[in-house]
Amino acid sequence: MVDRMQKYVSLERRMADKRKPKDRNRDHLEILPDYAPEEASAQASRCEQCGTPYCQVFCPLHNNIPDWLKMTAEGRMEEAYRLAQATNNFPEICGRICPQDRLCEAKWACTLEQAGHGTVTIGAVERHIGDTAWAKGWVKPRRPVRLTGQSVGIVGAGPAGMAAAEELRAAGHEVHIYDRHARMGGLMSYGIPEFKMEQKIVARRSALLIEAGVKFHGDQVLGGNLALDDLRQSHEAVVLAYGAHSARRLDIPGTDLAGVISAMDYLVSSSRALIGETPAPEIDAAGKWAVVIGGGDTAMDCVRTAVRQGAAGVTCLYRRDRANMPGSSREVAHAEEEGAAFDWQSQPEALSDVPVEVIASQPEGFGQSGAVRTVRAHRTELVISETGGRLAPSKVPGSDFEIAADLVINALGFMVEDAGPLTSGRVAMSARGRIDADSSSRMTAVDGVFVAGDARLGPSLAVWAIREGREVAAQVMHFLANTALAQSRPTTASCPPTPLVADQKEDRPCD
Ligand SMILES: Cc1cc2nc3c(=O)[nH]c(=O)nc-3n(C[C@H](O)[C@H](O)[C@H](O)COP(=O)(O)OP(=O)(O)OC[C@H]3O[C@@H](n4cnc5c(N)ncnc54)[C@H](O)[C@@H]3O)c2cc1C
Ligand code: SF4
Repeated sequence: MVDRMQKYVSLERRMADKRKPKDRNRDHLEILPDYAPEEASAQASRCEQCGTPYCQVFCPLHNNIPDWLKMTAEGRMEEAYRLAQATNNFPEICGRICPQDRLCEAKWACTLEQAGHGTVTIGAVERHIGDTAWAKGWVKPRRPVRLTGQSVGIVGAGPAGMAAAEELRAAGHEVHIYDRHARMGGLMSYGIPEFKMEQKIVARRSALLIEAGVKFHGDQVLGGNLALDDLRQSHEAVVLAYGAHSARRLDIPGTDLAGVISAMDYLVSSSRALIGETPAPEIDAAGKWAVVIGGGDTAMDCVRTAVRQGAAGVTCLYRRDRANMPGSSREVAHAEEEGAAFDWQSQPEALSDVPVEVIASQPEGFGQSGAVRTVRAHRTELVISETGGRLAPSKVPGSDFEIAADLVINALGFMVEDAGPLTSGRVAMSARGRIDADSSSRMTAVDGVFVAGDARLGPSLAVWAIREGREVAAQVMHFLANTALAQSRPTTASCPPTPLVADQKEDRPCD
């Protein structure tokens, strides 16, 4: 038992020991173990307990971080879990996959980092709280106390859909989730690799929802075998939470060559094989020279998956430098430890089916049929952008170079799929390429049809999707309460005639 906080003065920041690269490169299992209880307690006790906790401000869920850190430091783990779970449906998931260095543990969010002590390991403690709760049997399905008789259909079983489902079910609604995949989790199951979060972590949350009474329908595709009008007829409200999965196009010659694939296809194929849905990955980097294009977390996931699949070599090409990349620096460090190469300030300009050693003797033969063999790129310098914002890459003249590649993975990011074709033109997109909805009520132009998660925000983070799920659930509950009120209110036709006497009129439910 730790008797006080602010131990940062004598205790250094410490994460649990990562598995060694040579061990972790052989499998897809998580690289970070949980803390032992005494380590979690000690690390939690480093918290300064600031009067204004900026960690809480910068956490999208506004988790009550200082209080659950104190409870953990004092060994009050069940209380810590109750508090963590009050604002976060999946604390052990966020503890694992949030990019804490950009959120609650950013240098602007933790006072200790600003004072040069190293941040509190907030994410690792949150994971420990969640994992302990599961191990001790404190995590229970949130079954409703009373049923409302109203039902909600949710399209998309990612973190937004799952969080919304849990809240709506706990409030007494019948909840059905529809998804194109066979299991719940969305990108947490089919995108985020197991070395960041093992599947069993998501699977036990999915099972908990089923235990609470949520009905899951896999292999249901909105715009395919699932129609919005049918959903709207079966449910009093519908939530569209289908994420952002359309790959941004790699706009250079040669993108149609065999072996040029999108990051989503690559990661889904790897996840499906690891889950056991397919006998082997449909796209396998084993023995290949893999080049990943992009500098975000998705690119890091592809790089690290290719290493584990046994690629002959893995290179990440990114057009800006390390300091200006969008991904988490923590993930880059993991990838480097695991043996991936980074070619910073390198921009691809063409892909070719001619092997790199032949191109030198045949510069005109940069063919674009068959399978990819070479990436041609150039070096960039970073210049101040005319439109402001981040430094812009500009080509360094005469800096062209080629590298060998027989698998090119486009990890340039994702967009929200156009809702028009998926909903027979009923739901529209905003000018920014997201599903258009009222910013407060989250309702689209179709009465009773709401939107949440990446489909509303554009590609974001799981923690934001959880927040979206919670917020849309509150809006749907409000809508359903009004619907119920309107339906229970007797109509003029069914009301007895109003006696034209003022004091009697007061008691009438019709008014
Ligand atoms: C490779 C990758 C790695 C990531 N890593 C991290 C990370 O480490 N940490 C982090 O916080 N965030 C990460 N993210 C982002 C995070 O996963 C997403 O922001 C989050 O999952 C969005 O949640 P969502 O519920 O809105 O959508 P999703 O998780 O995308 O779920 C949407 C669901 O809708 C289903 N669907 C789509 N279209 C249809 C349709 N037409 N009909 C029926 N179902 C449909 C999909 O199958 C999917 O299950 C990553 C994203 C990617 C792509
Ligand atoms: S949810 Fe994410 S940002 Fe919030 S405290 Fe947990 S790890 Fe930090």
